[in-house]
Amino acid sequence: MRNGSAEPEKTWREKYNETVEKEAVLKNRLDQLNQESRKWEEKYFETMEEEYAQKSLSNDPEIEDITKKLDKIQEGKKTYVKIRLTEAEKSMAEAGIAETVKLSEKMTVEAIDILENFLQEMVVDNGLPSLKGVRYDPSFINLYGGKDTVALYNWGDETMYIGEMLSDPDAYKQHRLLAERSYKKQRNEYEPTWRSTIDSLEKEIPEEDDSGRKKYLIKNRNDVLSGLISQRRLVAEDAKDAIIHEYGHHVHNKASSESNIFGSKELKSRKFAGSYEWGGVHEGKVTAAQVSDYATESPLEAFAESFTAYVKGEDIPESLKSVVEGAIEKTGGKLKQPVVKVPDSGIIKSKIANEEISVTKIQNLGKINTKVLEKEFGKIQTDDIIVTNERIDHIKERHPEDYDLFEKYGRESVSDPDLIIKDIKNKGTVFMIKKLPETNLNVVVRVVLETDDSKLKNSVMTFYRIRERNLKKLIEKNGMLYKKE
Ligand SMILES: [Zn+2]
Repeated sequence: MRNGSAEPEKTWREKYNETVEKEAVLKNRLDQLNQESRKWEEKYFETMEEEYAQKSLSNDPEIEDITKKLDKIQEGKKTYVKIRLTEAEKSMAEAGIAETVKLSEKMTVEAIDILENFLQEMVVDNGLPSLKGVRYDPSFINLYGGKDTVALYNWGDETMYIGEMLSDPDAYKQHRLLAERSYKKQRNEYEPTWRSTIDSLEKEIPEEDDSGRKKYLIKNRNDVLSGLISQRRLVAEDAKDAIIHEYGHHVHNKASSESNIFGSKELKSRKFAGSYEWGGVHEGKVTAAQVSDYATESPLEAFAESFTAYVKGEDIPESLKSVVEGAIEKTGGKLKQPVVKVPDSGIIKSKIANEEISVTKIQNLGKINTKVLEKEFGKIQTDDIIVTNERIDHIKERHPEDYDLFEKYGRESVSDPDLIIKDIKNKGTVFMIKKLPETNLNVVVRVVLETDDSKLKNSVMTFYRIRERNLKKLIEKNGMLYKKE
């Protein structure tokens, strides 16, 4: 070493990256500790041996220490956001991305990165039109958007408004994943009804002589058909995609004239009371459905959704592709669609379908008697009880020798238990005991309290055999809520 001061000063970005890495390591460790504690706790309830209770508490000091460190990191990250925010507002304006840029300290560094990098790529690298404004403005979104709106583009002031959901890209991605799952689930529930409606309309249409009525029937058929064709709610999988969508509206705006939106004829739209909607017999809607369900809402959304899919390198219907390419060309921009075809719709379909099976698939176990539980817990939102596949895997892994018993007696244990014992350590949790001639079964159940999310169901957390001696101890410690007469 030549001299001590030769070490170059780290940039804020380098320091920030180090902080993020440190945070990830700590979060990982915290997860590990919590899991370990839960494991000991479970062991304790199985055996009622004091040493396991001790073990389950032994991680607490480290958990507390890590939690404090993580809080400090969160505080520290705010400083970096301020630096990034000032930098981005300046550089985006200087690069001519937008005349005014107003972001917020509520955004994460990553959220600002995504926004700036994408717009830089579009406007600076590809020569697509610049915006008048880019604003973080959740109150504008709440005022003018629907309840699921995360960002908005306003045709009048050529401004992109960013909402709160896009301030944290990680959280938004998770949100999108769950939203697509529930969309898919609902869509699949409707599918049989849609199919039979289409069948009966298709029988009715050729027999209809009145041309007005016939057109009406075809329009109806096409509306239902577009629901059937859509395989996802949105093209957007993450924050970047949501920004692409809004920017797509801007490209469409700049390619359009005062009196006519670009591609209005190809999109099969009609102008009605100053806004654009589906024209004819809604054939444009059927085409848009191949892109996403949201694309079927209007010709304008069909464009923005198609633009998003196009920028992501997906295959989209030829007619929509040519409108998107035409608009890009008209604004003077050049945008090469990525050569690699990132997820084509088939892959998306199977990806979502597989996740459905592995993560969210649940088994119904029937009903529980909520009356006896409500005396203790107050209102219980539902009497349905389920077990998730994830919990079944847990039982198989932790209590493999008990799993057969669960298959055989699981339902009966929850619908008609011999005893119910309160779990004093965990909120809304009970032990449902079924007595067999040779042994006892213990099903740990979390019930849905009034304060819980209404979409939840009572569910089985775990299951194992419990010996008579331990059952007695469990009752002594926790107290019995119910005993079958
Ligand atoms: Zn839109």
